[in-house]
Amino acid sequence: MKKNIKDFTLEELQQCFLEMGEKKFRALQCFAWLQQGVESFHEMTNLSKELRQKLEDTFFVSVPKVKKKQIARDGTIKYLFENHDGTLIETVIMEYKHGISACISTQVGCNMGCRFCASTIGGKERDLTAGEILDQLIFASKDMGRRISNVVLMGIGEPLDNYENVIRFLKNVNQKSGLNIGYRHISLSTCGLVDKIEKLAGEQMPITLSISLHSTNNADRSSIMPVNRKYPIEVLLRTCREYTARTKRRISFEYTLIRGVNDDKPHARELAGLLRGMLCHVNLIPVNAVKETGLKRPTREAVEMFQQELLKNGINATVRRELGTDIDAACGQLRKNNQ
Ligand code: SF4
Repeated sequence: MKKNIKDFTLEELQQCFLEMGEKKFRALQCFAWLQQGVESFHEMTNLSKELRQKLEDTFFVSVPKVKKKQIARDGTIKYLFENHDGTLIETVIMEYKHGISACISTQVGCNMGCRFCASTIGGKERDLTAGEILDQLIFASKDMGRRISNVVLMGIGEPLDNYENVIRFLKNVNQKSGLNIGYRHISLSTCGLVDKIEKLAGEQMPITLSISLHSTNNADRSSIMPVNRKYPIEVLLRTCREYTARTKRRISFEYTLIRGVNDDKPHARELAGLLRGMLCHVNLIPVNAVKETGLKRPTREAVEMFQQELLKNGINATVRRELGTDIDAACGQLRKNNQ
C-alpha cells in the first residue's frame, strides 16, 4: 500500500530519502513542492526523472476534492472537501485586517458530544491524517492565490483527540520551506482533554491554546459538554494554570453564550471569579442556532452586558466578530447539510 507523502514530517522524509540512497536536500525540494500544491511527482521538475519515478512507486500525493464552495457577502469562503474515501470535512477562510485566517478540521465528525455543535451529531467517522489536515491550507492558499497567515484548529473534530497527527501537522506547517506559518499565529481549540493539555505543555510549541469553557459550574457544563464529567471545571482550570506557568502563554477561553442558559450577570460574575489572576483572555461567542439542538441565540444587549461585567472584574474579553453569516458558517453545518 502506497503512503501519502504529505503525512511524513520533513525529518521523516529526509530519513526516507537517505534510505533510498538520495541526498537529504532532495527531500527538502520535494517537501517544498508539496506545500506549493503540486498534484503529482512529475511536476517536481528539479528532481531527476528516476527519482520522481521512485517516489511515484513508493508514495502518493493526496489532492483534496472540492464538493462545494460557498462565498459569503463579506468574502468568507467555506470549502466542503471530499477525502479520498468519500468522507467530508469543512474549512473556512476569513479575511481580517491582520491577514487571512483559516479554520480547519482535524477529524471527520467528532465524539465529544457538545450539545451546541453540529459536527458531533453523527459521531466521529475517523481521524484526519497530518497530510489531510495540511491539505486544507495548501488547497485554499493555491485556490485563492494568497498566503494564509493564521490558522485556527477549530473546525470539525477535537484536535487533542487526534494528538499525534495534529502534532505532525503543526511541525510541517511551521517549516520555513513549507507554508511557514509561525506557531504564534496558530490557535488550537479543545473542549478540555486535560491529559493531552498536560502533554501539549511539554511540546515547546508556542501556539495559542484555546479552551471551550462555555459554563461556570459543573452541572451546566456537563449538561452541554459531556467531557466535563471526566474532567470537571476545577481540574481543567488547575491544568490551565499549570499550562500557563510552564509555557508562559496566555490561554484563550471560548465562552458560547446561549440564551437563557449561561448569558446572565451571575454567570458573568462566576466566570470572572473562576479566571481571576490567570494569564488569559475570554472570547465570547453568541451561539449559532442549530435546528437539531433547539439552542437560542442571546440578545445583543445580553452579549454586551456579559462582556462589560467581565471587563469590570478585570478579565480581558472580546466578542467574536461574525463572518459568513449568509452561508452555512457554523461548524459542521455545511457537512451535515450535504450528507
Ligand atoms: S465543539 Fe469541538 S469538541 Fe465539541 S463536539 Fe464540536 S467539534 Fe467536537
